[in-house]
Amino acid sequence: MKVHEYQAKEILAEHGVAVQRGIVANTVEEAVEAAETMAKDGVDQFVVKAQIHAGGRGKGGGVKFSPTVDDVRSNAEKILGMHLKTPQTGPEGQEVKKILVTAAEDIAHEYYVGVTLDRAKGMDVIMASTEGGVEIEEVAEENPDKIVKVWVDPSIGLRPYQVNEIASKLGFEGSALKEAKTFVAALYKAYRAADATIAEINPLVRTDDGRVVALDAKINLDDNALYRHKDLADMRDEAEEDPLEVEAGKHHLNYIKLDGNVGCMVNGAGLAMGTMDLIKLAGGEPANFLDVGGTASAETVEAGFRIILSDPNVKAILVNIFGGIVRCDVVAQGVIEAAQNIDLSVPLIVRLQGTNAEEGMALLKNSGLPIESAILLQEAADKVTAALNA
Ligand code: GDP
Ligand code: MN
Repeated sequence: MKVHEYQAKEILAEHGVAVQRGIVANTVEEAVEAAETMAKDGVDQFVVKAQIHAGGRGKGGGVKFSPTVDDVRSNAEKILGMHLKTPQTGPEGQEVKKILVTAAEDIAHEYYVGVTLDRAKGMDVIMASTEGGVEIEEVAEENPDKIVKVWVDPSIGLRPYQVNEIASKLGFEGSALKEAKTFVAALYKAYRAADATIAEINPLVRTDDGRVVALDAKINLDDNALYRHKDLADMRDEAEEDPLEVEAGKHHLNYIKLDGNVGCMVNGAGLAMGTMDLIKLAGGEPANFLDVGGTASAETVEAGFRIILSDPNVKAILVNIFGGIVRCDVVAQGVIEAAQNIDLSVPLIVRLQGTNAEEGMALLKNSGLPIESAILLQEAADKVTAALNA
């Protein structure tokens, strides 16, 4: 699950990470109020920042320096409601519904620091660089020696010498060195405590007056651990998510929308990947990844059809179910009921294999519905791409 920058900063601050001061706002008036509140404490310059679940906002015009409260007002007017396009949004952009008004910092230098899981090593990895503010992927590609990497064994935790290594390799000195060490240790603590899959600060800045603070923050949370973080689960902003994926989640379907025209309904993630590969090899393009899980019932099959069909690009559907725990005749019954309940406007090819596959195929055949069946996966993929061109 993704959270907004202002929420990531809240999580970090709770664990002692130094973050730039800011107040979130839903309206222009709230933004002005936020700036006035900070002005009372001596803040004299601000930044207005679009809150969307995507990075690269600065280049897209979603981060605006605002020297006065009046500038906060006019920039809030510009940014709220805009369709912000960044390399991480779709081409249509993402509508901005919230903004963060921050106390502007005078930057002496921009750094990068991030924590994530290194699956190959089975350890957490902290990556840091003096080349912050820019795309870290570019630094990794062009100047890999500019990235410091430290692996942390989660059963041991982050050791003081590792913190020293990161902070000193970034070139921090004096009081800033001490703050940088505190920062890195607190960032790792926050990452672990929140069960984050990534905690990334870009940029981390050293200010003109020698402080070390997070100017931006990105945290992704592990969905599988949200059950033990009610407060974090409540940070979910469904308005930022793909509506079809939200709907699928309600039915415990694992759905990811793609750009092709062949809808797929499969049980098991591995079989789904294999099915998508064969569709591509046969000349089609998958419109989605959909794993209905190990226990495909009539209800889940129907919900799956509805979700697949709400994508207007879908021109044919391939159902590929392996009857292991689930029985193919039960699935066939589900497909028949679903096809009767919803207006199935595109060709449907069904492949059933495993327990009671023959009974399932017979049910489909005798249903009188225009459902084509297939025995081999290759055959199913060929039939669905042929249906596209029919
Ligand atoms: P992103 O573009 O979505 O990654 O948004 P960021 O929060 O990283 O902001 C983009 C850039 O705006 C940063 O890299 C900074 O260069 C600049 N910026 C943001 N806040 C401040 C600030 O308080 N002071 C200064 N001087 N620059 C800022
Ligand atoms: Mn950034």
